[in-house]
Amino acid sequence: MKRIELIENYLDELFQDPKCELNYSKDYELLISVMLSAQTTDKRVNEVTSVLWNRYNSLEDLKNADLNDLKNILRPLGNFNKKAFFTKEIATMIVDKYNGVMPRTRKKLESLPGVGRKTVNVVFAELNIEPQIAVDTHVERVSKRLDMAKSEDDVLEIERRLRKIFKRINWSKRHLQLVLFGRYYCKAINPMCNECKLKEICKYNKTTRK
Ligand code: SF4
Repeated sequence: MKRIELIENYLDELFQDPKCELNYSKDYELLISVMLSAQTTDKRVNEVTSVLWNRYNSLEDLKNADLNDLKNILRPLGNFNKKAFFTKEIATMIVDKYNGVMPRTRKKLESLPGVGRKTVNVVFAELNIEPQIAVDTHVERVSKRLDMAKSEDDVLEIERRLRKIFKRINWSKRHLQLVLFGRYYCKAINPMCNECKLKEICKYNKTTRK
């Protein structure tokens, strides 16, 4: 069996129906949650947004929020000054420029404060706008360990390689599977190599652990 086939089969075995672990009920809540998830965990974002969405349950409310109150709510995430500013600005721009409806084009979304390519990829994949592979720290680590990317590749290059490796129809699923595999199995510290079915083809396992 080919290497990529082995990887795909194992990802499908571990995560048959992978789900995004950020809690949201509205599209803009997902967008803001992904922006907030930079340099922190989804678990922590969910703890914070359970307070945030409860207190400000519309874009209009967020637009009119007291910035200091937002900072206090977002404090556990780190970088909270910036994240509070981005949250308020995203809401303000969607309300003022897009009549309160989150835009669904890359150009418009990337014009929102704090929203970059990775955030848009996650939103597109999760909302089924189009198949996408977002490269976060987990996807980067797993891709490099499994030799699907080179050690010197930046996130754009990794994304380009993964888009070639996997079928377009599966991009969003593979993205989620790689995130979950990196988060729970192929962890940065103490990856679970002994029980990993990919250890025979894993570059990291061969070079680091023997
Ligand atoms: S063998 Fe270890 S490093 Fe390689 S993919 Fe599996 S868990 Fe990750």
